[in-house]
Amino acid sequence: MDIILVSNRLAKARSFTLTKIHLFILAILVAVFFVGAVLTAQYAIVRLQPGSISDELRTWLASAQQYEQQKQQAYLHESMDTMAKRLGQMQARLQRLDTLGARLVKMSGMKPEEFSFEEMPAQGGPYIPAPLQADVSLASMGQQLTSLTSLVNDRSDKLVALETLMMQNSLSKKMLPSLAPATDAWYSSNFGWRIDPFTGKNAMHEGVDFMVPAGTPVYASAGGVVVYADYHPQYGNMVEIDHGKDIVTRYAHASKLLVKVGQMVRRGQEIARSGSTGRSTGPHLHFEVRYKGMAQNPVRFIQKSAS
Ligand SMILES: [Zn+2]
Repeated sequence: MDIILVSNRLAKARSFTLTKIHLFILAILVAVFFVGAVLTAQYAIVRLQPGSISDELRTWLASAQQYEQQKQQAYLHESMDTMAKRLGQMQARLQRLDTLGARLVKMSGMKPEEFSFEEMPAQGGPYIPAPLQADVSLASMGQQLTSLTSLVNDRSDKLVALETLMMQNSLSKKMLPSLAPATDAWYSSNFGWRIDPFTGKNAMHEGVDFMVPAGTPVYASAGGVVVYADYHPQYGNMVEIDHGKDIVTRYAHASKLLVKVGQMVRRGQEIARSGSTGRSTGPHLHFEVRYKGMAQNPVRFIQKSAS
């Protein structure tokens, strides 16, 4: 078969002969084109119309989805059980803390009304101390957590306040000159007006005298800072300790001083040895307690510690 092609542009005809091989190749090309077109059409139908997916495929997809859902639910359930258990444990622990707090309040001698460890804070919901059941809804668990959080905050505030108060209490007790500066010593409660042994006139005795032989250890009546440790014409060798809160103690007529100015001393620490230096008629320890510069009767402080 001869085919003649005519091109306008070239204004020239071309001719070539179609052989059997040419025809065969053409047939194959046409067949390949048709198969391709059919496949493309089918693919398009499947993609564009979900309804056309085979039932088998749909069932398989559904079961896979269901399996995934079940797995997720089981996981959720399991973690909620664990959370509920922990929540219950935390509530039990908080109850123990409440008991401890209440006992501390009682021990400290504070008013239980001021430190209630049994009530829910005013802004919170009801306090449900019962252990949680394992199977609880997410919503109820959220509620429990919120109420537990506000309880924990309340108790932590109260415990910190209680600690501060108790600390102040024990600190001020430690700071008070309540320890006798000499042990096993007889002392005359001779604070106040008396006849001065030197002048024979009525004079104020601003401390108490401990009748001890020379060389007896003298102890700090409370913790503090040494503000004087030197010889004084009247007091003789004297140690003065500042205990803070305007309280100062003096230990006079010592034979030997064992501390220096600026030194921190603890309650009961040996600070000197007794003697008879300065304006003294014989070996003894003269002990003074001053509050805001005014001499106080030391007996009141020392007796306080005994009770
Ligand atoms: Zn005296």
